[in-house]
Amino acid sequence: MPFVNAAHIARDYDVIVVGSGAAGGQAAYTLCMEGAKVLMLEAGRNYLPEIETPMFQTVDQAPLRGAETPDKPFAFYDATVDGGWTVPGEPYTQTGSDAADRFDWWRARMLGGRTNHWGRIALRNGPYDFKGHSRDGLGIDWPLSYEEIAPYYDKVEMLIGVYGSSEGLENTPDSPPGCLLPPPAPLVSDLLIAQRARRLGVPVVAAHRAVLTRPLDGKRAAARLHPGNPTAQRILAADMQQRAACFWATPCGRGCSIRANYQSTTVHLPPALLSGNLDIVTDAMVSRVELGAQGRARGVRFIDKTTGGEVEARGRVVVLAASACETVRILLNSECGRCPDGLANSSGQLGRHLMDTVGSSAQGQVPLLENLPPRNEDGASGHAVYAPWWLYSAQRAGRLDFPRGYHIEINGGRRMPGLGTLAGLEWLTGGSYGLRLKEDARRYYGSFVYFDGRGEMIPNDAACCELDPSVKDRWGIPVLRFHWRWSAHETRQAAHMQKTFAAIIDAMGGRMQDAVTDGAAAIRPGGSIIHEVGGAIMGANPTTSVTNRWGQTWDVKNLFIADGAVFASNADKNPTLTIMALAWRSADHILERMRRKEL
Ligand SMILES: Cc1cc2nc3c(=O)[nH]c(=O)nc-3n(C[C@H](O)[C@H](O)[C@H](O)COP(=O)(O)OP(=O)(O)OC[C@H]3O[C@@H](n4cnc5c(N)ncnc54)[C@H](O)[C@@H]3O)c2cc1C
Ligand code: SF4
Repeated sequence: MPFVNAAHIARDYDVIVVGSGAAGGQAAYTLCMEGAKVLMLEAGRNYLPEIETPMFQTVDQAPLRGAETPDKPFAFYDATVDGGWTVPGEPYTQTGSDAADRFDWWRARMLGGRTNHWGRIALRNGPYDFKGHSRDGLGIDWPLSYEEIAPYYDKVEMLIGVYGSSEGLENTPDSPPGCLLPPPAPLVSDLLIAQRARRLGVPVVAAHRAVLTRPLDGKRAAARLHPGNPTAQRILAADMQQRAACFWATPCGRGCSIRANYQSTTVHLPPALLSGNLDIVTDAMVSRVELGAQGRARGVRFIDKTTGGEVEARGRVVVLAASACETVRILLNSECGRCPDGLANSSGQLGRHLMDTVGSSAQGQVPLLENLPPRNEDGASGHAVYAPWWLYSAQRAGRLDFPRGYHIEINGGRRMPGLGTLAGLEWLTGGSYGLRLKEDARRYYGSFVYFDGRGEMIPNDAACCELDPSVKDRWGIPVLRFHWRWSAHETRQAAHMQKTFAAIIDAMGGRMQDAVTDGAAAIRPGGSIIHEVGGAIMGANPTTSVTNRWGQTWDVKNLFIADGAVFASNADKNPTLTIMALAWRSADHILERMRRKEL
């Protein structure tokens, strides 16, 4: 009975997994496919992508023409049914209010969490990204190397389906043969950007996204992912056959009912449920981890949101995967006589080293792209090419005024038009009406290019979270209070991004409406790229970190963290592929330790 209500959970599970997004989905998948009995507790409601995904609706069918609203920050048809920058009844507080010291927290309260919406950009960290401190003396090294995590990147890529190419570029790892799917055809604007950017020394290569460009070879993948486990192989091979290839026409942020892109709800959870080893309770808001004898976690306590009652669930092992900050919140709220400052916090590091991604964007209009005939790829959602960080040698030579790097996500084409499409053309047309307006719209549609810089932040002492001393959520659980500050490392990097965007647009013969040169003005506020990680970092030393290299908390042996809270640094690469690779690795470690009866 996979979906159960709180009153019908079993008395004891091998593992309790809190959260059902990228981390919880991956941990539960690995554990269940290899035979562990798992209870997944998810604070949001159940969500069925196959029937709930509004893939084909047009904006005229939506209230306010599908416009963004506070409860639908990514517009009406966005896949996130419950969530956004604010969640009713679940506030958070922050000490800052402007772009320099504000942290906005984006949450999804639904089965599958943010993976129903995410951009599907799935990049591997490179070898340098795990050893930043050793290279430039800043931040913190991870207690593991790229080589140790690489086999898990391979597995995740094969399981979820990632398109991309291997280019042999510095600190931009290649994937072994058989891991990546072929990339889609680039847009015309991509080809022009690639040509002109290369003249400036900026490489433009195939993007990596968790989208199926062709059906998966389920049998081959299942045999590689679950050697010696015919049951798992049979389940996965059959399930992979149910996933169709992308047809490049609908916005991935609405979700994908044909299962062509990765969502936990369409990729991790179906086979895990078919294994018969997974029970899921939705509307289960976990408030704390309960300690039992000998300092071991006994289970977790949660609010059954359908009744408001409190329930305790028990398991041999507890895995927190509620997203980085929520995991920190649960641990801080699990304070007890022996741990007055929060559970697993003997180091005092819980809530510290909070990081987001440095984000800065620009848009350009390119006359060469006007009035082009439409091509099928023009409607593709998500990008086909990107520019990995390329200035490693300039940085080593001391020619840059900031550490680490950024990549550029590149967009263009003619997406499904929305309310704002082609609004504000006056800076190009000088204002037009009637027939002329229509001609202008046809001329300019598809002639814009978009650049999103995504860079590495160095953790600093002023970016952290803690429990707010007085504010509680609707369930009576203390909420988080955020402190935030970008340092000059990040603002200088944002200024460099803007210089690069302007140079590429200029090299294309394009124009920008507003060029920004001040990094502090160009940088997006903390949290706004929604790549928040850290808060319970892994390390080699129990006095300076919360978990060991397996995501196992130093203080409580059967308590693991599977989400981005354990990140010791936040490379320019988007974090989710690494979250899944680490979650798989932790789950393998748990299975092994359980087999040896060490957990
Ligand atoms: C608009 C957007 C675009 C993005 N694009 C990208 C991208 O292109 N590439 C990339 O790498 N990343 C991207 N991300 C980030 C990515 O979504 C996250 O890194 C990833 O989902 C994190 O996985 P997670 O499992 O830790 O958290 P989530 O996916 O947020 O899942 C956490 C789950 O835990 C549940 N939960 C929370 N608290 C509790 C509790 N107390 N009790 C029980 N359950 C709880 C939540 O309801 C949720 O379902 C994007 C995010 C957004 C919102
Ligand atoms: S573009 Fe492709 S992957 Fe994205 S929602 Fe549409 S069919 Fe699915």
